[in-house]
Amino acid sequence: MIKPKKVAFHTLGCKLNFAETSSISRMFSQQDAELVSFREPADIYVIHSCSVTAKADRKTLSLIRQARRQNPDATVAVIGCYAQLNGAQLNAMKEVDIILGTREKYRLAAICLDKTRDRVMEVSDKDIHEDHTFKPAYSSGGRTRSFLKVQDGCDYGCAYCTVPYARGRSRNNSISEVVKNVGEIASTGVKEVILTGVNLGDFGKNTGESFLELIRALDKEKEIPRYRISSMEPDLLTPDIIDFISQSSQIVPHFHIPLQSGSDSLLKRMGRRYSCQDFEQKIAHIHKKIPNACVAVDLIVGLPGETDQQFNTSLRFVESLPISYLHVFSFSPRPNTKAAHMKEQVPEKVKKERSLQMRILSKKMKEKYYLEQKGSNQQVLWESKDKQNNLQGWTGNYIRVKRPYDAARENTIEEVTLNHFVNGSYYIK
Ligand code: SF4
Repeated sequence: MIKPKKVAFHTLGCKLNFAETSSISRMFSQQDAELVSFREPADIYVIHSCSVTAKADRKTLSLIRQARRQNPDATVAVIGCYAQLNGAQLNAMKEVDIILGTREKYRLAAICLDKTRDRVMEVSDKDIHEDHTFKPAYSSGGRTRSFLKVQDGCDYGCAYCTVPYARGRSRNNSISEVVKNVGEIASTGVKEVILTGVNLGDFGKNTGESFLELIRALDKEKEIPRYRISSMEPDLLTPDIIDFISQSSQIVPHFHIPLQSGSDSLLKRMGRRYSCQDFEQKIAHIHKKIPNACVAVDLIVGLPGETDQQFNTSLRFVESLPISYLHVFSFSPRPNTKAAHMKEQVPEKVKKERSLQMRILSKKMKEKYYLEQKGSNQQVLWESKDKQNNLQGWTGNYIRVKRPYDAARENTIEEVTLNHFVNGSYYIK
């Protein structure tokens, strides 16, 4: 009897990559391959790469070395954004057997498990093309939550961003197909679906639909009690969407909005499509309609030419808004982007200092946000055991809650009152 092939995946980057890895790994499982941890000896190592920062690029290269060390005879495949953008370099390294970009990666299982061949076929970067089609994907394996890909690609062309080069133009699934995916996910017992995309608010461009219509349709799909929306561009997060979420019992009040800078001149330089005033009005609208909403904001520090004064303006602007917490990124020049060629690159040391200041602010904001929720009643989806043997879960507005571990409560939703705030979480006795 032929032994099943052992396949190990490591995923870098965004929720979209995680959803896609899950779909690709299901293709392996359906053909009897055995999925193992990336730290174990395997026949095939798959690195689902990301290229959003220089750090992500370095991580891909280090994972290739790790895979080779663990099994020098293994097939090593690099798929996804880094492969799409740096296929020729990967090919020249001679360490990688299969290089598949964002369009071709769905062929991976067929290539690796081709029974007509004695050994796995090598695939070079010559096979990489721009992706124009939409391939649905959702994550499975986590019992409580699933990332569902509904949109891919981006037409915006922000000065610092390499994603449109890697993932191509904006495209999406149809609402009816998304609803079908939701049905499949619900049949696995998952309680929360996280809608993901590269530029999620652009949903509908291809199919003559809109993001608002999508969430209206999902709100009727009662077998999933909760939908969470991942990052959405501020110019696409319309008052209608906010108003709909404010009265929906299923779309949770958790907004993740990329501001990127609180300085209008820097927003212009980045090629963003809104002003600080637009952003402020959007946040005000959210809080007017949903006072306890969680608002998470992305920021980039150290764009070329960012002066101390612009950074301070940005810091003061962010500080003045009712934001729950920040995701802070230090600018890193990405090949072929406008920002990589901008003059006056900010020294690494300065970027680090600015990033630290923003992170300190984020910590204060998060604590303030958590304390504002004290005394409120919230629905918690209990998820998993933490290192201290507590059961932990999240409320709809993304407050972490813990209680003594009780296996029977896992993957259930319970109403709790938030009273005891200790070390960044609420505890239920
Ligand atoms: S909106 Fe801008 S930052 Fe976001 S993926 Fe598109 S180009 Fe990149």
